[in-house]
Amino acid sequence: MSGQDNALDIAVQQLDQVAERINLDPSIHRRLRRPARSYIVSVPIRLDNREVEVFEGYRVHHNTSRGPAKGGIRYHPDVTLAETTALAMWMTWKCAVVNIPYGGAKGGVACNTKVLSRGELQRLTRRYTSELINVFGPQTDIPAPDVYTNPQIMSWIMDTYSVSVGYAEPGVVTGKPIAVGGSLGRNEATSRGCIFTIYSLLRRLNRKVEDQTVAVQGYGNVGYHAAQIIHDDGAKVIAATDSKGGVFNPKGLDPRALARYKEENGSVVDYPGADSITNEELLEVDCSILIPAAMENQITQRNADRIKADIIAEGANGPTTPAADEVLFERGKYHLPDILANAGGVTVSYFEWVQGLERYFWTEEEVNSKLKGIMDRAFDEVWEMAQKEKVTMRMASYIVAVRRVTEAMLLRGLHP
Ligand code: NAD
Repeated sequence: MSGQDNALDIAVQQLDQVAERINLDPSIHRRLRRPARSYIVSVPIRLDNREVEVFEGYRVHHNTSRGPAKGGIRYHPDVTLAETTALAMWMTWKCAVVNIPYGGAKGGVACNTKVLSRGELQRLTRRYTSELINVFGPQTDIPAPDVYTNPQIMSWIMDTYSVSVGYAEPGVVTGKPIAVGGSLGRNEATSRGCIFTIYSLLRRLNRKVEDQTVAVQGYGNVGYHAAQIIHDDGAKVIAATDSKGGVFNPKGLDPRALARYKEENGSVVDYPGADSITNEELLEVDCSILIPAAMENQITQRNADRIKADIIAEGANGPTTPAADEVLFERGKYHLPDILANAGGVTVSYFEWVQGLERYFWTEEEVNSKLKGIMDRAFDEVWEMAQKEKVTMRMASYIVAVRRVTEAMLLRGLHP
């Protein structure tokens, strides 16, 4: 079984566990175990060498009881329908746990962006969008960036949709550049939200940010900004990796200099003045906070008993398997689950969508302070639930989220 199929098994298993715990109505449980709808599209494009290549793309809506489908688009060779479905399901819970009015969706194209030219990437994005032109829309389905997609790609999606409807429609996609209706603060929002949840936890534990040492797996959008924000607030970032490997310096790394080095050299590997470290070693580094911000299935039964950090904040989606969850819980780790810890991205995407629909834009201070309000409230609700029910923060987040989705489904009833 591939890691991607495994992600769906894990997502369903997590739902099954919470269903049992809260005595979920079996008819709701049965519906939530499956996506509402899934699209598979062929994406033919002309390559720079004039040959035509056909890529496979997906879009999955898991549940839209609480609002339009919302979720990122991933460009990665390992993208499958099963992985996209798992990610869509996690989006349903994520939007519910922070209580924003969206359902869960995800999309992707199985492709290797590292070998595609800018022109090829643009043609791929436009054709993928065209194939789903009747699916996407500001009231129906609003995509956003995910692994190996970025604001430029969102801009091409916005343009393709706008050309089709005949006017500029910023509300169809989030994570856009500011000049075409993006929101201030969106780029760093996932990381900022993750850091807010870490600070809420540190307050509960009476610990200071200045005393923390941090290791970050995945030095992309989420990992880099998280490192930079927590460094600016006084913590020491001592290790970081990307897909090629990583670096470690117990005296601390400079996150901005490291990002510049990655920009120039394509990786953080061999950054001067630091030791080399593998992705597996990074997870076991002696630090107080571990931020997995890369891919799924990184913390498993194999390495969970060797994790030294006592706070794990999931910037990535699905980095921990359920078996590893249990090990970490038994070891007394503070584990901030993905659907809570990385919900800052979709929260500011929600702000961007609202601003786009109203054509009225907010200051960065407004965005960040509204984000803080939502993240702090979500953390408190999940923390209280975890204490009351004596469960992991992940189970507590699921209880909050699944109850919200269930309430909406029961109130709306079953059509026809
Ligand atoms: P990105 O493409 O900007 O960065 C991904 C980083 O991970 C890159 O540095 C890449 O080199 C590295 N990487 C890839 N495979 C790796 C591996 N096997 N081991 C270590 N590093 C690896 O993507 P991103 O937007 O930062 O997303 C990272 C994670 O955060 C994903 O799980 C994504 O679903 C999740 N996430 C992203 C957002 C967002 O707003 N971008 C929101 C919520 C969750």
